Amino acid sequence: MAREPKLSLIPLGGLGEIGKNMMAVRFGENILIIDCGLMFPEEEMLGIDIVIPDITYLLENREFVRGIVLTHGHEDHIGALPYVLRQLNVPVYGTKLTLGLLQGKLKERNVNALLNTVKPRNIFQIGPFRVEFIRVSHSIPDAVAIAVHTPVGVIIYTGDFKFDQTPVDGQVTDFNRLAQLGDKGVLVLLSDSTNAEIPGYTLSERMVGKTFDDTFRQANERIILATFASNVHRLQQAIKVAHKQGRKVSVVGRSMVNVVNVAYELGYLNIPEGVLIELDEANRLPGHKVVILTTGSQGEPMSALTRMALSDHRQVDIVPGDTVIISATPIPGNEKVVARVIDQLFKQGAHVIYESVSSIHVSGHPSQEDLKMMINLVRPKFFVPVHGEYRMLIKHAEIAKDVGVLPQNVFVAENGHVLEFTRRVGRVSGRVTAGKVLVDGLGVGDVGNVVLRDRKQLSQDGILIVVVTINREAGLIVAGPDIVSRGFVYVRESEKLLEEARAKVKSALDLCADRGISEWSYIKSQVRDALGRFLYEKTRRRPMILPIIMEI
Ligand SMILES: [Zn+2]
Ligand SMILES: [Zn+2]
Repeated sequence: MAREPKLSLIPLGGLGEIGKNMMAVRFGENILIIDCGLMFPEEEMLGIDIVIPDITYLLENREFVRGIVLTHGHEDHIGALPYVLRQLNVPVYGTKLTLGLLQGKLKERNVNALLNTVKPRNIFQIGPFRVEFIRVSHSIPDAVAIAVHTPVGVIIYTGDFKFDQTPVDGQVTDFNRLAQLGDKGVLVLLSDSTNAEIPGYTLSERMVGKTFDDTFRQANERIILATFASNVHRLQQAIKVAHKQGRKVSVVGRSMVNVVNVAYELGYLNIPEGVLIELDEANRLPGHKVVILTTGSQGEPMSALTRMALSDHRQVDIVPGDTVIISATPIPGNEKVVARVIDQLFKQGAHVIYESVSSIHVSGHPSQEDLKMMINLVRPKFFVPVHGEYRMLIKHAEIAKDVGVLPQNVFVAENGHVLEFTRRVGRVSGRVTAGKVLVDGLGVGDVGNVVLRDRKQLSQDGILIVVVTINREAGLIVAGPDIVSRGFVYVRESEKLLEEARAKVKSALDLCADRGISEWSYIKSQVRDALGRFLYEKTRRRPMILPIIMEI
């Protein structure tokens, strides 16, 4: 009997975390990649700009990688491409807006790639895979789910989606096609778990448009509206309401200006003639004629809104009477900084409207009832929750079982797991390298645990540099020890402590000399140990100690 064909699904990012989504689909010697996103660093990753998936597995199998397909243009789905394509230059497939946004990022970093625009419902071949894009609603236009027809069966990867019955751009999720595929039989469904903890249905984006209409009407002066740069639907609604109420619109913040330009050029934003104006022009108009759209809804320190709140923006000063609308929900971890920005805006005299006091935001992700609906439409044999932290995946797995997927056919996996499926059975068959690659400035992956640990120590207790010049032959200290410190104690008020510290260093050096030790690394570690013990005793702090011993 011939061996049963096998299909492997290998998540390389996005499981157990929000961000850096990436999934490899493998059949024999063919690999297809779905999405290639980045993640923003966690608080303890000091100085790190972004985090991207570890693609060691793909590099080891580079001759089998046939292409990358993209669900939509959010950073957590396309943001790692400028880095990954440098190492793995394979064709990329996506919808028009997704590729339009990607192109800007690639150009910025001088990366060339073969980009193929695909329309929803078009089926195209990549190696042995027949790939199909299925329209879904989300907080960015042109989002799709991806069906991959493989020799083992059909898999559907939902991407980020919501079921919006009245989407702003009129592009409803393609329920028909999902149901059709469900009828024919779907082997595996991989679905968005972001809101798996939230009961009910996710509301239509159009709700926000209504709230805009009311809040804009109540504002007597200028309106400053902050939202995600890429939420084209929301920008569209703000522009429409502004126009209706006779206000002009100005866009502030580099990433939002970018998105508005790309979306407008590609026909995803409808901006009536004359509505969009430059900021200097807006500054000359009376307040009640102006809406400023801006970035910074997450309290990002360099963003336009944060600068405005701190009176640090070159062109926009918050003045009493301004209405500031923060049309977003803080991503977990950002709550504090967002709250600080709100406080600061109130201090400047603005009237601030934010999520906890108004329905100024709806999610772009499906809630529990929507998730059930997706599973019921597709009726997969196997189910894998993706795109979420661990508890969200667990919750989503429970939902799948509730609606009738067999418990043994539901897999809560981790990044790097190899999920192997035949037509009949599925199992975790192994593990490949997966994890985080940290990007700091131009360095990709050169900052690892050791560097992060040093940064953490420096940030907590500072640094002490001990400089001493020795005549090795005579075993004599010629100059020093001098101690320079940063971030440890205020030197002028700690003369005595540092004096004693110098004495400790000196006696450690003397001890080495007495014993005839001339091994540099040993002497350094003696100095470090003696000084470290002394400082901990005196201060209960552990600064980084850097002995520099010079010889004449
Ligand atoms: Zn996402
Ligand atoms: Zn998204």
